[in-house]
This record gives sequence, C-alpha cells and structure tokens, in this order.
Amino acid sequence: MEIGIIGAGASTVGLLDALARLAREPGAVTVFEPSPHRWRGRAFGPDLASVRVNTPPMIMSARHGDPAHYARWLEECEASHLDRRLGHQTVPRGMYGDYLEQTAESALARLRELGWRTEVVDERVTGMSPSDRPTLLTGAGRRHTVDVAVLAVGSGAPQDHYGLSGSQGFLRDPYPLASTLDDLAPERDVAIVGSGLTAVDIVVSLARRGHAGRISLLSRDGVLPAVWQRPLKIEPRYLTADRLTALAREHGELTLGRLRSLLDAELGQDLGELIEEVRATRSEDPVERLRRQLSLIDSPGMGRRVVQQTVHALGPYAWHLLRRTDRDMLRNEHFRTIASLSSPMVPGNAAAMLELLDAGQLAVVPGVRKIEPVEGGFQIFTDVGVRSADVVINAVNPPPHSIPENAGALVSSMLASRVAELHPDGGLNVQAATGRLTVSGKADPRLYALGDLAGGGLFITTSIAGLAARAEAVARVLLAI
Ligand SMILES: Cc1cc2nc3c(=O)[nH]c(=O)nc-3n(C[C@H](O)[C@H](O)[C@H](O)COP(=O)(O)OP(=O)(O)OC[C@H]3O[C@@H](n4cnc5c(N)ncnc54)[C@H](O)[C@@H]3O)c2cc1C
Repeated sequence: MEIGIIGAGASTVGLLDALARLAREPGAVTVFEPSPHRWRGRAFGPDLASVRVNTPPMIMSARHGDPAHYARWLEECEASHLDRRLGHQTVPRGMYGDYLEQTAESALARLRELGWRTEVVDERVTGMSPSDRPTLLTGAGRRHTVDVAVLAVGSGAPQDHYGLSGSQGFLRDPYPLASTLDDLAPERDVAIVGSGLTAVDIVVSLARRGHAGRISLLSRDGVLPAVWQRPLKIEPRYLTADRLTALAREHGELTLGRLRSLLDAELGQDLGELIEEVRATRSEDPVERLRRQLSLIDSPGMGRRVVQQTVHALGPYAWHLLRRTDRDMLRNEHFRTIASLSSPMVPGNAAAMLELLDAGQLAVVPGVRKIEPVEGGFQIFTDVGVRSADVVINAVNPPPHSIPENAGALVSSMLASRVAELHPDGGLNVQAATGRLTVSGKADPRLYALGDLAGGGLFITTSIAGLAARAEAVARVLLAI
C-alpha cells in the first residue's frame, strides 16, 4: 500500500511511529512538508530557550501506549531543564522538536528495514485530483499517486481580531519568538493580544531578554491559564470510556448531568473544591488566582488534576456521545474556563509571570473592545478607558478546527471535487472511529484527517497524547489490524 502523508508535525510522527511498530507487510510512504523544520510543525521548531513545553513529560510521549517513551529520551540526553516546583523537566520546545525528529527518523528507518519505500518531499501539497487512487499535486508541479492520503496539516496561525495587519508595530504571528522579539527595543511599551499559553510564552521570553518596558496582556475576560499541580497518578474508576459508553447506551445519549454524576463519584469530597475552582476562573482577580494556584502546586486535592487528565484523555470520546445542546453550551459558555483548567501553564512560567505582575511591569487588562493604530503606536479601548502601546503582539489562537493557510488550496480542491465536506463547527467531516473523511455520511477509505483538521471533535487544542492516540488508531485502520 502506498500512503501519502501531507504535513510533518507531531501527528505524523505519531503515525509513522505506529506504522513502524505495527506493520507486518512492506509498503510505501511519502511525506510532504514545505517547512525546513521537518517533524516539528508549528509548535516545536527552533526558538528561544524560554519557549518551553507546556506539559509534564508523562503526557508528551509521541508513542501511544508507551507514556515513558519521551521520559526515557530525556534521560538519555541528560536534559537539565527541571521545573523544580513541578518536579519534572520542561525543556525548550525546540528540544522537544529534536525528540520528534529522532522518533520520526527511527520510525522511517524501521519501516525501511521492513521493506518499505520511504520518501520525504520538501513541497507543499496544493491540490488533489480524485480517482480510485488519489493524485497529490505539489506547488512545484509534482504529481504523486497514492492509495491513501492522510491530511495532517495542523492548525493555522493566530487570527487578527482587531484588523491590525499591515500596521507598523503589529506582529501578527509571534513564532518563532527568536525572530519576532529580536528587533524589539527593551524600553518599548508592549501589548499582547490574548492571555493564553502563547501570551505566557511571550511574557516569559520578554522577561528573559531583560525587557524593561510595560507589558499588557489584553483580553476580553482576563482569564489566565491555570497552573500545573505536581502530577499524581490517576487511575479513574468512574470517568472511563466503558462507563460513558454504558451511560450513553442506557439513555440514548450522554448528558452533562450524567457526566457530572461520574465526576462526583470519582472525586468524592474533592468535588466541592473543583466547583469552587471553576467558579473562581472567571470571577477571581487573575493575579490573586495565579498566586493562589502557585501556592497549591503540592496540594493533595485531585479535582484539577482529574480535569487536566480526563479532558484530554477522555474528552474527545465523551464529546461525540454528548447531547448536542450540552456540547453547544460547553463551547459557547465555558470555553475559557475549560481551556484554562485543562491546559495550564508550567509553574516556572507562572512564577515568572507573578514576579512581573507584583513588580507592576505586567498588567492583565480585561474588557478590551478595540485596538486602533495611531501615529507611533496603538490605542487600546477597554470597558474602563483608553491606554496606549508602542507594539502589539498577537497571541490569539486560531479557532478550533480551523484550516491552516498552507492547506487552503488543497482543501478547496477537495471540497470542489466533493471528496471532502466542511464540518459545521470547523474542519472537515470525519468518521470519529477511523479518521476517514466523510461526505454525506459516507466514509472514504482512501482519505484521512489527523489532528486539528478532523472536525467534530472537542474544541480545545489536541495535546500530544491525544494526537498520538488518534495516530495509532488511524495506523491500525490503514494496516487493517
Ligand atoms: C505554540 C504551541 C505550543 C504547544 N505546546 C504543546 C505542549 O507543550 N504540549 C502538548 O501536548 N501540546 C502542545 N501543543 C498542541 C499540539 O500538541 C501541537 O499543536 C501539535 O504539535 C500539533 O501537531 P500536528 O502535526 O497536528 O500539526 P503541526 O505540528 O502544526 O504540523 C502540521 C504540518 O503540516 C504542514 N502543512 C500544512 N499544510 C501543508 C500542505 N498543504 N502541504 C504539506 N504540508 C503542509 C505544516 O507546515 C506543518 O509542519 C502546542 C501547540 C502550539 C500551537
């Protein structure tokens, strides 16, 4: 079988690793990737040392079923980036990219040992002509016919909410920070649009570079990511796929009420603390919330820990079973709270943020309504007044399941020839179990989507562990095992 994989980021690394572990027969695989930083994707290219991974090692393994795969790699390369409060290594993301690269190269070598033909083409795929065997067209005019094509194109760059593109002093895409921050004079007054993990990367990197000017985090509601607690082993007894399936089967669908009863059973007396945490996410002063959470890194309470684990591990499965109205409610009303609690910042970054906030150099500015370019800088209009900035850096994540610019031409050609259709909530329609693209409910065994392009999934960015799990599931379908 000839497989064409479009994009060489973490999803593809997980897929190649799974193919290499599971394949028994020879085959062929061609990977298309225009970026010079193969296997790293948007998140894990070379960048400043201050741009760190956001998650502890045990959930950063690209090998599904082997959670210690990455931790072993860290040990072998004698990494020394301990986040002492977390008690784990949080290495620069570029270094995690080295892990992805080595995992991909080992997988390709193993496939070749098994008799596979492997090739990596440094070109963007710009179209697909459908037939029994799809033909992938590249920007340089190459045509490549395959038996199956897997789209693993990632998600896009930040959106320009305030229409500032082209304005002097506006940095639309912050990464790599090594180049965007390079020309920034240390005394400039910097405003960052967004208050999520990308904003945290920018603040911490500015601090490490010795930035002396004011830094403002602009957002609508001023919610910062929560802070990781020291990981403790969690083996859910109630929040399991089997229980969810049984509930959905018994009642025809899963509701939030029933999900909450599982959470109640799982957490017992820790549920109250979690409910308080959920309430505090939007109502507590963000600086006090950060300070409080930094003081709770070692607290034994399991509420947040269970949320962090289950949102990523079980969330995508639960999402498909949930009643439509409950899904809409979670997406529309609780997005910030769930994103904040399930994708926290590492304690080292939290401590650096708090130091700047306490020193008065950093401010969290909620209630932002509009930002306008003016002579020599920007004016920021909030619910309570107007402030200024010399430079605006964009840290707004693309909406979930958005189609990245680099894949726009390819996806358009697939929509035009009716081999793909858009999911109403973003991305392409896929069959959840197999990853196959679907059109009018019919799954196509030739075409697959992995990662954020697969529509219909949970609305938070898929983590490495989630991507690796999906990649292995697709590998099993491709190899028919
Ligand atoms: C800044 C950032 C930090 C993150 N940090 C973490 C973290 O610490 N821990 C964690 O668990 N998760 C993290 N994530 C979330 C998630 O794990 C990553 O986004 C993950 O790397 C996504 O992998 P992917 O392969 O699906 O997409 P990507 O890594 O984005 O890779 C997609 C690739 O497809 C290529 N491509 C696109 N279009 C085409 C085309 N037409 N032809 C050929 N190639 C194409 C792109 O060039 C790109 O290399 C982070 C995400 C971001 C954005």
